[in-house]
Amino acid sequence: MFARMSQISAGWRLALQLGLAALILATLVWPRVERYFLRDAAQQNRVTLQLVSDGLRAALDRYAPLPNLIAAKPELARLLQDPDDARLTERVNDLLLNTAISVTASDVYLMDMDGLTLAASSYRKERSFVGRNFSFRPYFTQAAAGGLGRYFALGITSGERGYFFAAPVRDGPRILGVVAVKFTVEPFEAGWQAASSNILVTDNAGIVFMASRPDWRLRATVPLTPRALSVIRANQQYPADRLALLDIGRRDEAGVDMAVINGTEYIASSGDALASAGWTVTALRRAAPARLQAGMLFAAIALLVILAICVASYLRHRAAQRVQVHKMLEQRVEQRTSALRHEIEERRRTEEKLRRTQAGLVQAGKLSALGQMSAALSHEFNQPLQAVKAYAENAQTFLDRGETGEVRDNIGRISRMADRMAAISRHLRNFARRPGEAIGPVPLNIVIDDALAVSAPKLKSSDVVLDYTPAADAPWVIGGHVRLQQVAVNLISNAVDAVGGRGRIELRAARHGEGWRVTVRDNGPGLPENASEQMFDPFFTTKPMGQGLGLGLSISYNIVRDFGGTLWGETHPDGGAIFGIDLIAAEVPMTEAAE
Ligand code: ADP
Repeated sequence: MFARMSQISAGWRLALQLGLAALILATLVWPRVERYFLRDAAQQNRVTLQLVSDGLRAALDRYAPLPNLIAAKPELARLLQDPDDARLTERVNDLLLNTAISVTASDVYLMDMDGLTLAASSYRKERSFVGRNFSFRPYFTQAAAGGLGRYFALGITSGERGYFFAAPVRDGPRILGVVAVKFTVEPFEAGWQAASSNILVTDNAGIVFMASRPDWRLRATVPLTPRALSVIRANQQYPADRLALLDIGRRDEAGVDMAVINGTEYIASSGDALASAGWTVTALRRAAPARLQAGMLFAAIALLVILAICVASYLRHRAAQRVQVHKMLEQRVEQRTSALRHEIEERRRTEEKLRRTQAGLVQAGKLSALGQMSAALSHEFNQPLQAVKAYAENAQTFLDRGETGEVRDNIGRISRMADRMAAISRHLRNFARRPGEAIGPVPLNIVIDDALAVSAPKLKSSDVVLDYTPAADAPWVIGGHVRLQQVAVNLISNAVDAVGGRGRIELRAARHGEGWRVTVRDNGPGLPENASEQMFDPFFTTKPMGQGLGLGLSISYNIVRDFGGTLWGETHPDGGAIFGIDLIAAEVPMTEAAE
């Protein structure tokens, strides 16, 4: 639930951050990025403008003095003074042609004071200037008045746009005529094609007379007044009816001068560097690439920002998740620990219960054995008691007869019988006692002797032959005297039961590896089928109801295990069952060794 809520709030937080980032990007970043690229493009545009203006200015500066230089040639004055001299006309024509070629002018021509062309570099051409009158051109009037004529116009004869320079031809102070030099503007425009900006040159009437784009040439950038139109017509400067309007919408955007022409947006830079000629040069650079670059950079920035926000949010989410997982693990560890503690407590209690039960069972086992043996025991006690009675009666008789020797013999027999009964009772007492004894070195052979003494009544009451070989060297083993004896009694008793009261039992005590092994082997039927696993379990018995508790082997097993030994049992390959007690060898105690 908590995790889900934090997930939802994390989602909201991410959305909020993205929204905020979008707002900042749109209001603060985008205008800056766009302005940067527009200004950068404007800067480059200004450089182009500068280059174009410098080129034009250099050309004008180069051409302006030419008419004066040409006018100084004496042939020109002479021809003006003698216009009918055919040879001179021819020479002047050649001279003008050569001059035109050397200065790369499109035309060089000489006019008299009426504006009539006497000689021209184009004299050989079909549409020669010779014989034409240019008195209507302002450059003629300017030069005829003694000044330097400059003029831009569409050539009447050639149909080419050209720039005209004119200077008076003098004879001393007297002005005889005018020499004019015409340059076409196409080479400039051709040069501008390579520039990254469009170039537009307007005259002071606002008419485009040079442009890198052909469709912009000879267009008016401002609506022409009727007065301006009439002047153009009078000078035959441009074909007045063709001067359609080129609509240039200018505006300012972030300090950058923008222009829109026929729906295309340009960054505009204008310079009146050619003010002397009355020209305004404008460089127009398309704004779209700058905007595209800005858009791309902006997109990259936006992507980065979004990515950074997403990554940060992801990392935060991961960290939160880790903390949560950590908490969960801690909780689980805590739960597990308390469960374990509980389990340990439970086990301790169970063990305690088991220990108590086991102690009780040991006792029960003993009592059961006692019960089983009681019949045999009563027989065992009865027999000596009857003997004691008989010996006592005999002794009385011998005493009456005064046969003291016989009396002494009978009393001695009575005493031995009493000893024997005392021994039996001592064993029984030992057997019945709860095992409070310590575990330590016990003399193995003596323990077995005691066990045999306890088992004697049962053995005797049956028809069993016991073959006992005690261990050599009277070894000591680790154990408890009474309990080890109880185990041996148990095995012997089981063997007697197995042979069915008639058979043979082999009892051996011998070295086994580092320790000692006591084996009880019988020639009975061997272990019941599949019993080897279960026979050490409590209450496993194959004996009829009332005869076996199924506790003997399980108690014995635990006793031997307490001694650090092993109790085992199997069916012997040669028939019968064999049970073994493997015990740890013990040092002979000092007191015993001294004895
Ligand atoms: P109980 O003698 O009361 O049955 P034990 O724990 O002493 O209990 O023995 C368990 C079972 O192991 C016996 O019922 C018997 O089936 C089997 N058993 C023990 N000793 C022998 C043996 N010497 N030969 C064959 N089976 C045996």
